[in-house]
Amino acid sequence: MTLKSQCLISFGSNLGSRDCLIAEAARIISKIDLVESMETSRLFETPPIGGPSGQEPFLNAVAAFETTGTAREILEMLQEVEQRLGRERKRRWDARSIDLDVVLHGELVGGGTGLIVPHPRYTARQFVLRPACDVASHYRDPRFGWTIAELTAHLNSAPPSIALTGGNEALREEMCQKLNQQHGIVTFTSTEEFEAFSSNESSPGLSEEKEVLADAQKLNEPTPATNRHTSVSSPQSGISTDNHQDPINPQGSRQSGRKLLGDAPWVSSFVPNIQHAQGKGSRTSNLSPTRTESNPLIPRLIGRIQVSTTDSPWPAPHQMWPSGWNWPEYRLEINDRNWAVSELFSALDSMRCPVRPITEDGNWWT
Ligand code: ATP
Ligand code: CA
Ligand code: CA
Repeated sequence: MTLKSQCLISFGSNLGSRDCLIAEAARIISKIDLVESMETSRLFETPPIGGPSGQEPFLNAVAAFETTGTAREILEMLQEVEQRLGRERKRRWDARSIDLDVVLHGELVGGGTGLIVPHPRYTARQFVLRPACDVASHYRDPRFGWTIAELTAHLNSAPPSIALTGGNEALREEMCQKLNQQHGIVTFTSTEEFEAFSSNESSPGLSEEKEVLADAQKLNEPTPATNRHTSVSSPQSGISTDNHQDPINPQGSRQSGRKLLGDAPWVSSFVPNIQHAQGKGSRTSNLSPTRTESNPLIPRLIGRIQVSTTDSPWPAPHQMWPSGWNWPEYRLEINDRNWAVSELFSALDSMRCPVRPITEDGNWWT
């Protein structure tokens, strides 16, 4: 007997007859032998994020199905459908007639040349997670064990934030500096600065985070420099927030740190000790997203950096999960630093982007 896997794939289209193309893709895929009991989400519309300017909004959806096929077979099948529907591969993130990605494939963590599963960037993407909540809210990411529903709630409960890890400290700090200078993102490059910044407006509930950050210092950054600075400037970003943002003092005034963190996206060059954040008595159990609800000081995602070299192509399987944290990760491959900065910025944007359902149900392709 061949074992079946639950597979989740994503659809996107923002070029040509978007609704015809995406419906045709779903029809073709539903008829393929490897695809059993396919269920599709509603169709959603999303503004374009991260690519060259002047693109049309995207239509997005996902499909969940059972399959005896491997992730490689599914990817090959999706690429054939893309080709059949006229997908041209030009620049990455350029407008495309159809984009089909493998998001999850059972318990698989890994891949190989040209294939990484789970999809390395889906954890930051509302335009994948929102549709996935329609048909696969109970699917678990095999890396950190959270369901799609938990991950989505976690992302929605506080402003976008990413704590960087991997690469090296200098690279992470450089990424933060560029995000601040080029995109106006609030960034932190030392736990001390983060702590000082966040505790300036004394507020109940912060003592626990202070403890968390003090521990992070011990665990993650053994010798934090004291002369680093917190970069704060007014956001010129296109990041959409549900609430109107408070103006942020470009000089980095510390008057309203709590408020600022409550409203603005941020990136840190280190990872606070999130395991500690779950509180006393439960430190060894899996982290529960509900523990972090609306706490803007706990990063929504860990951004794991991998610098690729010819000797060490990305992702090297043994380098994937060194920490063992049960925390959602966003993975960033760094070959070109400027590209990586814009990709991180796009990730923050896609954690908050408006995703609007435009059909009542998943029958848009039948
Ligand atoms: P993103 O991957 O950030 O969504 P994209 O879909 O625009 O960007 P593409 O140009 O469609 O990027 O794909 C780039 C390459 O990603 C493909 O050639 C494919 O081999 C590879 N790839 C790796 N893992 C996956 C996956 N899980 N699903 C789809 N493609 C993948
Ligand atoms: Ca994609
Ligand atoms: Ca793709």
